[in-house]
Amino acid sequence: MSFVADRIGIMAAMPEELQALIDSMPDAEVVRRAGRDFWIGHLQGRAVVAVLSRIGKVAAALTTTLLVAEFGVCAVIFTGVAGGLGAAVRVGDVVVADALMQHDMDASPLFPKYELPGQGITRLHPERSLTRRVRDRVAEVLDVSSLAAGGALSQVHLDALGLHAPRVHMGLIVSGDQFVSSAADCDTLRHHLPDVLAVEMEGAAVAQVCHDFEVPYVILRTISDRADDTAHVDFPRFISTVASRYSQAMVLGLLDRHADQHVGDVFGAA
Ligand code: SAH
Repeated sequence: MSFVADRIGIMAAMPEELQALIDSMPDAEVVRRAGRDFWIGHLQGRAVVAVLSRIGKVAAALTTTLLVAEFGVCAVIFTGVAGGLGAAVRVGDVVVADALMQHDMDASPLFPKYELPGQGITRLHPERSLTRRVRDRVAEVLDVSSLAAGGALSQVHLDALGLHAPRVHMGLIVSGDQFVSSAADCDTLRHHLPDVLAVEMEGAAVAQVCHDFEVPYVILRTISDRADDTAHVDFPRFISTVASRYSQAMVLGLLDRHADQHVGDVFGAA
């Protein structure tokens, strides 16, 4: 495996989460592997490879492996939507993972529930300083004043969905091969994992592969639904209306070396 200097992998599970970014890469060359299109090009003057992983942990793990082992990325950004579980996490907010785990991993009684068998750990933690820089930059990008100035997300779109100004949270995201869409399932997850902020279907798989390869990673999720009995209505509405704008605004903000704000180059130390 050889790393390509500064090349960053950008991954999402669904086309709606990635399309706007691919549209911003006019010089992209497409390479097909394992039934996936890898878009090799530039964003904000940086070398990137963008790819749709498809949904679920296996699909995400395979795609991450290819990004690292075959396309030589030195960092991975996963952008997508998730169900909100934390009490303060509303639809339209963003969660940056500082811990990830598989909520459907259970090899008990051989290993403790949730533990990655053989690895002796339950939670994976992305690099702390990178996570903080990501949180700060995303907060800048989604700042209400930039919204008012016609910035990344227009007020029109937020109003259309009845959304408040987005807030950025940092904390635990859990992943499993299940679309969580009932209040009962949410209660079970919150009961076992009181600090959980969001649930989705790929992040912990991306984290595990990056952890094993020792490649820095960022898992960024916009809340599309509350994973409850209305999730099946909220999710498609969010996905079709604003998900791609969030992904585009946040990822371009993270890649921007020259954003004239206090965070500086988010991936400078990666
Ligand atoms: N039938 C849907 C399936 C989407 S699965 C479709 O194809 O249109 C949901 C996707 O969004 C996954 O990639 C997952 O990571 C994320 N997600 C959003 N809300 C979720 C929730 N409540 N539970 C689990 N995953 C969720």
